[in-house]
Amino acid sequence: MKLKFDILVVGGGPAGCAFALGLINLNPQLRILILERGDYLRPRVGETLPPQCRVLLERLGIWEEFLLGNHLPAFGSLSSWGSEHAVSQEFLTSVERNGWHLDRNRFDRFLADQVRERGVELWENSTFQEANHLETGGWILVSEGKEIQCQILVDATGRSAGISRLAGANVLLFDRLVGTMAILESGSQLNRDTLVEAAAEGWWYSALLPDQKMAAAFFTDANQVKLLEIQNSEGWVNQLQTAPLTQARLSGLFQPENLHLRTWPAQSQRSDQVIGRDWLAVGDAAAAFDPLSSQGIFFALRSGLMGAFAAIDLLEGGETAQSACQKYSFSQLEQFMGYWEVKRDFYAMEQRWADRPFWRLRQGKIALSPTDKLILQPASHKKCLFFSPTDLGYLRNSYPGGATAAEFMAALRKIRPDLPPGHALEGLQMLVEDGFATQNIPELQS
Ligand SMILES: Cc1cc2nc3c(=O)[nH]c(=O)nc-3n(C[C@H](O)[C@H](O)[C@H](O)COP(=O)(O)OP(=O)(O)OC[C@H]3O[C@@H](n4cnc5c(N)ncnc54)[C@H](O)[C@@H]3O)c2cc1C
Repeated sequence: MKLKFDILVVGGGPAGCAFALGLINLNPQLRILILERGDYLRPRVGETLPPQCRVLLERLGIWEEFLLGNHLPAFGSLSSWGSEHAVSQEFLTSVERNGWHLDRNRFDRFLADQVRERGVELWENSTFQEANHLETGGWILVSEGKEIQCQILVDATGRSAGISRLAGANVLLFDRLVGTMAILESGSQLNRDTLVEAAAEGWWYSALLPDQKMAAAFFTDANQVKLLEIQNSEGWVNQLQTAPLTQARLSGLFQPENLHLRTWPAQSQRSDQVIGRDWLAVGDAAAAFDPLSSQGIFFALRSGLMGAFAAIDLLEGGETAQSACQKYSFSQLEQFMGYWEVKRDFYAMEQRWADRPFWRLRQGKIALSPTDKLILQPASHKKCLFFSPTDLGYLRNSYPGGATAAEFMAALRKIRPDLPPGHALEGLQMLVEDGFATQNIPELQS
C-alpha cells in the first residue's frame, strides 16, 4: 500500500523539526512525515544555543516547554584570540540576556516530541536513500519497506545534504575544518563561560554542559588531524599543551588513557541551489557554519521557519512557487555571505601564527592581481574549495592553456551569477593555495 503525505522531511534534527513545526502552525491540515535515521541516543554535537534563539522558539510555539528542559543558562564567553589575554564577552549586552548550554540529545529529542504532539509523523531509525521525481510532480520513494508518495521533499539531512545532491545541487566547501571532541566529567567547575582559545594549529573550545559534563574540542583542518595524530589521545593532549587557558581548565578532568575522542566535520559550506521544483533544503543542508560562530542551531531553526513559508508557496505552484524560489534562495545566500564576512574578519584578527597552514588559509589575503595568469591543473579526486566540480570543469574547458585572473572572473560571472565577485576572487586565490592552479605573474616591462 502506498502512503501519501503532502510533505516528506528527511532529517529530524533542529532544522527538520523547526520546519515541520512552522508548517503545521501555518496549515494544520497538511500531512507531514519526518524520516530520522537515528534514535536520539547516539552522540550528537553542537551544544551552545545563543540568546537570540529565544525569539525563534517562541515563534515555533515551544518556548515555555523548552524552559522545562533543565538546560544550563550560559551568560557569555571568554576568548583568547589575537592575544594571550582572555577577553570576556557577556550576553548581558544582548536583549535576551542569556543563552543555554544544551544536552544536545535531549534538545533534539525534545524537538521531535513537540513535532509529534502537533500531529506530525516522525519515524525514527528510518533512513532515506533514493527517491524518484515524478514528471507530473511529486516524489515516490521506499523507506523501511514502505512505499511513500509526497508532493515536496525537504532536505534536513545536515552537512550531507543528500536530497539537495539528488535534486542536482552542488555542495560548495569553503574549508576543511573538523573538530575532535571529548565529553568529560566537569567535576566541581562552576564557570559557565564558553572558553575559546586560539593556538598555533587551530583553536580550542570548551563549555560546561548540564549534568556536570564538559565539552572540549580542538578544531583544525582535516589534513592536520592526520598529520598531528589528533584522533589519538597523545596527539590531542600535545595540542592542549599549546593552549594554556584550556589546559588549566581541563586539568584533572581526564586521564589520557580514558579519553574518548570523536572527530566531527565542521567545514563552512553551502549548496549552490537550496530550492527547486518540489524540493527545498533547510539548516546545515542549505548552509553550514564554522562552530566558532555558534550560529548553527540558530540558522537551522530560522531556515526551518522560513522554509515552511516557502513550502506553502511551492504547494501553490505557478508564479507563487517561482517567486518563493527566488526569495528563499536570496535569503539563504544573503545569510551565508553575511556570516562569511564576519568569519573572515574574525580569523584575520589572529595574527600570532599567520605563517601556520591553518591560519594562512583563513586570513583571506588576496595576492592575485587581475593580470596574473592561472593554469588549471588536470582533474584530481580531491574536492576543491569554493567551486563545484562542474564550475571547475567549465573553467578548464574554457581555458585549457590558462587565462588571466580577470578572464576567469568574467567566465565565473557567466556561469555563477549567484557568486559575489569578492567570493569568486577568494575562490581563485584558494585554487592556487590548494594546488588546483598554478600562477604565472607577468614580468614587469622595463
Ligand atoms: C563540533 C561541532 C560543534 C558545534 N557547536 C555548535 C554550537 O555550539 N552552537 C551551535 O549553534 N551550533 C553548533 N554546531 C553546529 C550545529 O550542530 C548544526 O548547525 C546543527 O546541528 C544543524 O542542524 P540540522 O538540523 O540542519 O542538522 P543536523 O543537526 O545534522 O541534523 C540532521 C539530521 O538528519 C538525520 N539524517 C541525515 N541523513 C539522513 C538520511 N539519509 N535519512 C534519515 N535521516 C537522516 C541525522 O540523523 C540528523 O538527525 C556545531 C557543529 C559541530 C560539528
